[in-house]
Amino acid sequence: MSKIKIYPTENSRLSTVDFNNIPFGRVFSDHMFSAEYADGEWKDFKIIPFKDLNIHPAMMALHYGQSIFEGMKATVDQEGNPLLFRPEKHIERLNASARRMCMPEFSSEVFLDAIHQLVDLDRKWIPPHEGSALYLRPFIFATDKFIGVTASQTYRFLIITLPVGPYYSKPVSLKVERKYVRAVNGGVGEAKTCGNYAASLLPAKLAKQEGFDQVMWMDAHEFKYIQEVGTMNLFFVFKDKIVTPATEGAILKGITRMTILDYLKSEGYAVEERPLTIEEVKDAYRKGELIEAFGSGTAAVVATIDRINDTDIDMRFDESNWKLSSEIKKYINGLRAGKIEDKHGWIVPVGST
Ligand SMILES: *Cc1c(COP(=O)(O)O)cnc(C)c1O
Repeated sequence: MSKIKIYPTENSRLSTVDFNNIPFGRVFSDHMFSAEYADGEWKDFKIIPFKDLNIHPAMMALHYGQSIFEGMKATVDQEGNPLLFRPEKHIERLNASARRMCMPEFSSEVFLDAIHQLVDLDRKWIPPHEGSALYLRPFIFATDKFIGVTASQTYRFLIITLPVGPYYSKPVSLKVERKYVRAVNGGVGEAKTCGNYAASLLPAKLAKQEGFDQVMWMDAHEFKYIQEVGTMNLFFVFKDKIVTPATEGAILKGITRMTILDYLKSEGYAVEERPLTIEEVKDAYRKGELIEAFGSGTAAVVATIDRINDTDIDMRFDESNWKLSSEIKKYINGLRAGKIEDKHGWIVPVGST
C-alpha cells in the first residue's frame, strides 16, 4: 500500500511544450511530490499539481543554507515504457548529504515509491529521443521561521521534474584554478548542498572572462591534486590506464562516475581510482601519453575536454577521434533507451517496485 496521496491536475500544460525545442531548466512538468518534516517525522506524502510555494521571510534555508538536492533522469525504452537509472543510489546519496548538513534522512522506500508514481503520472512528459530525458530534481530544505544558527526542526521535501532535450555538450575548456578552492577535506564538498554551487560562481565567472568554460578544482591544501569540475567528475585516459581522482572527502561521489568505473572494470580496462596530481597529467601530455580527458555527470553523461590551461602550459586536445568517451556515452544512453541489454541491473522500469 502506497503512503502517497495523489491529486492529479485538471489542467495539463503538456500541449504547450515543444519537445524538439526545450529550453534547459525552465520547463516543468505537471506534478510534484511533496513531504513535510515536523515533530520528528516525515509526513504528508503527496503528489500535487506543480505550483509556487509560499515562503516566510525568515525561512531558515534562505539564511543558513540547510538545503540539499539530487539530480537524476527518467527515460523511455523503445516501446515508450519509462525507465529509471540506479534510483537507489540517489536516495543513498541524498541521505548522505542530509547527515552532513544535520538534516533528517528520508525513507528510501517512500522515495522510490514517489519517484515511480511521479514519473508514471507524468510519463508523457518524458521526451522520446535518445539522449533526452525527464530530469528529476529531489530537494530538501529547512523551513523553520527562525533567525538564529541552529538546525531547523521542520523541513520540506519536493521532487520536481523537467523535460530536457539531448544535451549536445560541446567540448569544454578548463582553467586549472590556482586561487579559489571548492572543497576541503572535512568540509561539505561530498554533500550536494546548495552553498557549494554559490561558492563556485565567482571563480567560474572569472574563468569565463578569460575564455574558459569552467575551472578545474584543485585540492585546497596544496593545489596539487585534481578534484573535479562544475557538476562533473573527471577521467583521464593515459596510454596504458584510465585514472579518476579518488573521492576521499572533498569530491562529490558522482553516480555517473561510479557507473563508468563499473563499466570499464567489467570491460577489462585498467582503471585506477587514486589521488591524481596535475603534474602527472602535464607530464603525460608532454610525452604524448595523455589520450583523452572527460567529465562525467547525470546531465551530460560524458563531456569531452579540449583544453586544460595552467600557468606553465596550455594543453590542447583534438577530441574528434577519441574512442573511449564516445563509447561510454553511447553505452549509458543506449542502456537508458532500452537498446542495450542491462547486464549490470542498473535499469529500473517504472512501476516495478
Ligand atoms: C552532481 C555532481 C556531480 C556528478 O554526479 P552524478 O551523480 O554523476 O550526476 C559531480 N560533481 C558535483 C559537484 C556534483 O554536484
